[in-house]
Amino acid sequence: PIFRNARFEISIAKASGLPPPNGAEVAFAGRSNAGKSSAINTLAGHTRLAFVSKTPGRTQLINFFRLNCGAALVDLPGYGYAKVPPDVRRQWQGLLEHYLKRRENLVGLVLIMDSRHPLTPLDRQMIGWFAPSGRPIHILLTKSDKLSRNQAAAALALVRRELADMGDQVSVQLFSSLAKTGGDEVEQVVGRWLGL
Ligand code: GDP
Repeated sequence: PIFRNARFEISIAKASGLPPPNGAEVAFAGRSNAGKSSAINTLAGHTRLAFVSKTPGRTQLINFFRLNCGAALVDLPGYGYAKVPPDVRRQWQGLLEHYLKRRENLVGLVLIMDSRHPLTPLDRQMIGWFAPSGRPIHILLTKSDKLSRNQAAAALALVRRELADMGDQVSVQLFSSLAKTGGDEVEQVVGRWLGL
């Protein structure tokens, strides 16, 4: 259970505040309200490790959590919330871009998407920033409890087809924090990234 007993370490608001690289990092990113905080809390077995947004888009910080294995889970600010002033939005996007493009100890990206609205333009932007690193991206299609079996299969197939040209660099699965499904699969994927 890689994510159990994750401990909060530090929050940063700007690239200049990034801690020195220390151990492998696995980042979680996603559109605001996609269910990222709920997914982190579910995986960590913690009700309030990551702050579940009452106001979407409020989490403007990068939050670092230390895992038992020594790696860090890095919770990136949610993006895509329409009511954020343009200058604030530019600042977050700059921070995300910097982190995804340059963080040398970032071994993989877990990208959270609402299974009903996958692959928004900003999701593709995150992929575009991170993919040149050659490192893996694992997509969680969350809130899968809201889909029928057929709709869930269709969502998976659509995302796989859209990203087929990325080959093995990208993997996709269904996830539900509410139904607590999909946790084992994420753990397996991230465990492989960390060599566990
Ligand atoms: P974040 O902004 O990406 O961190 O999203 P949150 O984790 O705060 O979740 C946004 C909203 O979606 C909240 O109202 C959650 O209760 C709801 N939510 C999150 N995950 C799930 C899920 O797996 N199933 C359902 N039905 N709702 C979820």
